[in-house]
Amino acid sequence: MKNIISLRDLENMVRNGQDVHNLPADAILTPSARDFLLELEMRGTKPSVPGSSGAGMSAPSKPLNSKSSKSELETFFNSPYCHELKLQICDIGRRLWGRAYVDGNGGNVAIRVGDGIALCTPTLVSKGFMKPEDLCLVDFEGNQLLGTKKRTSEILMHLQIMKQQPKAVATVHCHPPYSTGFAVAGIEPPTCMIPEFEVFASVAIAPYRTPGTPELGRQIARLVDKHNVILMANHGVVSWSHNNVEDACFKMEILESYCRTVLIASQLSRTPNTISPAQLQDLLKIKKSLGIPDPRYGLK
Ligand SMILES: [Zn+2]
Repeated sequence: MKNIISLRDLENMVRNGQDVHNLPADAILTPSARDFLLELEMRGTKPSVPGSSGAGMSAPSKPLNSKSSKSELETFFNSPYCHELKLQICDIGRRLWGRAYVDGNGGNVAIRVGDGIALCTPTLVSKGFMKPEDLCLVDFEGNQLLGTKKRTSEILMHLQIMKQQPKAVATVHCHPPYSTGFAVAGIEPPTCMIPEFEVFASVAIAPYRTPGTPELGRQIARLVDKHNVILMANHGVVSWSHNNVEDACFKMEILESYCRTVLIASQLSRTPNTISPAQLQDLLKIKKSLGIPDPRYGLK
């Protein structure tokens, strides 16, 4: 039997300090594993895996907080570890811009990097063209701690999500047109049509409030115990992840693709087919095992 190597296998090898270039000759790589190795070659660097203890990627041994000294914060902000997180945010910005989920200088991204502090995108910059040096460090009250550019004006809702939902390690906000269409219409996307959406996303709608105000953040924060993707009425979408910033972006992609598909299905002449309640229970079991919240757990 052939040896099949998945992305997860490679990530585990990196975490354990093994050389991913030293694979059995007959190993078959899954597509995502192949992409991972290709990316390594292109970057010519050590692999970076969230949670890896690889050189340059380890989180600070002493967790930072908003009361850490200026020099401790600066050391962190200029560390290879923080640089890697900044690169991740720039990469997510490029993806959001490339998929037309952001427009002008819209959209923003944040990563929790300590107790009451977060790394975030700057204001007045296209998310498709950010550089690591554009990013900002803020405390959970929204005060800017470091960074030469001014932090996004929409940071408060990201921070209020992180305060309310301790599992939220990263947040992404953007204005993807199909999902935002549902948000403008005030319609929660119907459920039970596509498994990915059922498993990875738990959607709710927050009422419209002026962007950048604490009241908008409050309206969103009260939903994040049971939902990881919030449609913001007449505005856009914000998602959070318990894994990493890429996963928060995945939630956005899954929602946007779902809203587009639902719209297409609704334009076809017959009523769309749905997944049965028993089939939904199977999906909810998977969802629970992944640590993703859902208000339907335990309901008959
Ligand atoms: Zn916005």
